[in-house]
Amino acid sequence: MAEKRDYYEVLGVAKDASAEDIKHAYKKLAIKYHPDKNPGNKEAEEKFKEAAEAYEVLSDPKKRAQYDQFGHEMPGMGGAGGAGGFSGGFSNFEDIFSQFGDIFGGGGFSGGFHSSGRTSRRQGPPRGQDLQIKIALSYKEILTGVTKKVRIKRYAPCTECAGKGGMGIKTCSTCHGSGRVRHVTQSFFQMVSETVCPDCGGTGETIAKPCTTCHGEGRNLEEETISIKIPVGIAEGQYLNLRGEGHSGPRGGASGDLLVVIAEKKDDFYTREGTDLHCTVEIPVYKLALGGTQRLPTLDGGEISIKIAAGTQPGSVFRLKEQGLPPLNAKGSRGNLFVEAKASIPMDLSQREKDLYKELSDIRKDKDTAKDESLLEKVKGFFS
Ligand SMILES: [Zn+2]
Ligand SMILES: [Zn+2]
Repeated sequence: MAEKRDYYEVLGVAKDASAEDIKHAYKKLAIKYHPDKNPGNKEAEEKFKEAAEAYEVLSDPKKRAQYDQFGHEMPGMGGAGGAGGFSGGFSNFEDIFSQFGDIFGGGGFSGGFHSSGRTSRRQGPPRGQDLQIKIALSYKEILTGVTKKVRIKRYAPCTECAGKGGMGIKTCSTCHGSGRVRHVTQSFFQMVSETVCPDCGGTGETIAKPCTTCHGEGRNLEEETISIKIPVGIAEGQYLNLRGEGHSGPRGGASGDLLVVIAEKKDDFYTREGTDLHCTVEIPVYKLALGGTQRLPTLDGGEISIKIAAGTQPGSVFRLKEQGLPPLNAKGSRGNLFVEAKASIPMDLSQREKDLYKELSDIRKDKDTAKDESLLEKVKGFFS
C-alpha cells in the first residue's frame, strides 16, 4: 500500500479545523470525486475513498483525538492496539452518505454504490455498540507492560439459537432484506432519504418463532472476564481500541469495539513528564556538606546509589539515565530519572548533637558573619 497522506491534508483543512469545517470540506470533495460523476475514473475513485477514510476518522472526536496523537499508527489502526484495520472500512460509505441526504439525495446521483460496482445495498444486522472502560496503571506497570484481567458486561451471541434469534427466519417483506426503507418527497426538487426499516429493525429479516432465551435478539448480556494486554510506555488519556471486543450486534451483527482508556495511578514518589520521571530525595545535611552516597529505590523494585559530592546544594538535580519510562511500545530504551536533592534537617537532636552543632556554629561564625556583611553591603549599594 502506498504511503498514506495526512488526513487533514487530504481534506485540505487546518489541524484545528472545526467539525463544521471538516464536514464542509468533505462534502465538497465527495461531490467532486463521486463515482457517479466520474465513471471509470480510477484516480477520482481513489480520491473519493481517501476523502471518505479521512472523514470517517476526523468526524469522530474520539478517533480524531487518537489520530492527532498517533497519526496513522493510532491504536486500532494496526498501532499499539494491534487489532488492525480501520473500523468499518468502506462498508460504511453508505452511512456516511446518509448523513448528507440533503445534498446527494436531491441531486443527480443514483445513490449509494450501485454505479461503482457494489451490487448490494444490504446492510445486514446492525453492528453492536462500542464499550468503554478505564484502566488505572502504576508507573511500574507502564514500565514493564502488563496484562490486565477485567470483568465486563457485554452482549454476547445467544448460545441457545446460535445468535440467529429463532426459527423460521424470512426476508422482511417491507424492506425486501435491505433493512432500510426509502422515502421520496417531491417538493421544489425531489428529496430521497432512508431510514432503518421499522418492521425488522434494520436486520432485513423477520422471525416466525423467536428464541425464548434472547427473545429474538440473538444475543444476551453476559458478564465476562477478559485479558487486556497493555503495551509498555502508555500514558494517561491514551486509548487502546480493541476491535470487535465490544457488544455483539443483534442476530449475528458484527461486534462493536472496546475502547480502553488509560489512567495513571498517583505515585507517592515519582511524577512523570513524557518518558522522564522526577523525584525528590532528602539527604542529611552532613552528607551534603561532606559528600557520600545516597541509596534510592528504583521503579522495578531494585535500588541504586547516587554519589553525593562534598558541598552539594539543596535543589541540585541528579540525572540518572535509563531510569525513566520507555516510549510507547518501545521496550528497551528508557527516559531519565531526575532526582532533586533536598536537605534533611534533624529535629530530634540529642544533647551531644546539640553541643556539636553549637561547637560547629562557633567555628563557622566568623566566615558566615563575613558572608552576611558582604551581602548587606551589596544590597545597600543599590540604594546609594
Ligand atoms: Zn425490514
Ligand atoms: Zn437466542
